[in-house]
Amino acid sequence: DHLVNQIAAGEVVERPASALKEMLENSLDAGASKITVDLAQGGIKLIRVTDNGSGITADDLPLALDRHATSKIASLDDLEQVGTLGFRGEGLASVASVSRLTLTSRPADSAHAHQIIAIDGALHPVEPAAHAPGTSVEVVDLYFNTPARRKFLKSENTEYAHCEATFERIALAHPQVEFLLRHNGKVIWRLPVQDLAERVAALLGKDFISEAIAVETSAGSMTLSGFVGSPTYSKASRDAQYFYVNGRFVRDKTAQHALRQAYRDVLHHDRHPVYALFLSMDPAGVDVNVHPTKIEVRFRESQAIHQFLFHSINKALAATTA
Ligand code: ADP
Ligand code: MG
Repeated sequence: DHLVNQIAAGEVVERPASALKEMLENSLDAGASKITVDLAQGGIKLIRVTDNGSGITADDLPLALDRHATSKIASLDDLEQVGTLGFRGEGLASVASVSRLTLTSRPADSAHAHQIIAIDGALHPVEPAAHAPGTSVEVVDLYFNTPARRKFLKSENTEYAHCEATFERIALAHPQVEFLLRHNGKVIWRLPVQDLAERVAALLGKDFISEAIAVETSAGSMTLSGFVGSPTYSKASRDAQYFYVNGRFVRDKTAQHALRQAYRDVLHHDRHPVYALFLSMDPAGVDVNVHPTKIEVRFRESQAIHQFLFHSINKALAATTA
């Protein structure tokens, strides 16, 4: 069973950044308004996420590390209507099976906190601990017990870059949440509660936002909002393409193509545009569960999505060049 867990963990926890993503999504699902991330050595040595969310009761601590024990799906129907970000009930269990994990938590109405330690997937007894209301998940020595997998990790710098990208993608979509990111003790990002424009400015640059075009369009049950780079914005980068579907960061061929076409159509050049765009749509029209670690989605009607994105951005750009 332990081996099964470790193999399954490889599917979910490809690298430190995937563990970080699971942990950040859990903090958001718990309604946190402040999230602090500490990384050491690119996340390989340490990933600690501390939040002020709803917390976990002492009784529920072992359950949180139990495979397939999610508190987030009440019925199978919910799988279609995924309201929360993490929903497979295997995130923490998977991380625990390939690390030394400490989960410390205190619900707001508890007098103090409790803690559970999982080493090599084995749970130690729940003990009292000190912690402010909320939860800390500390993941130490990822893959210490699976050397073959550990060998696949890239340099600390590369793993750190993946962690930072994960952090930025999530932070961009949650300007109402305060975030802090430290790496090897050094503060990298300190993001206060902001509105979206301020958060985009913080992460994508003031020069981007000062000329960016605000987008706000809808068609049927679809809404597109956010910011696209102005026609004169000269930086072009695929790394600065932030596209979200129902709050989830995705990299999608349909969307990339539609946006690139829209720029080409109006501006007659073929650079990679910079954008931070949020598409919200009926969850039944999109399959986000293609693969746990993948950031891809499958649209039921990708042609309609393509048209909507193309026309929305085309119109926004045309208005500025008219
Ligand atoms: P899932 O998120 O799919 O339910 P996880 O393995 O990621 O599965 O988490 C298991 C459970 O642990 C969650 O359903 C939740 O009840 C609890 N949990 C995990 N992290 C947190 C957190 N930061 N705050 C509150 N509860 C948490
Ligand atoms: Mg989760």
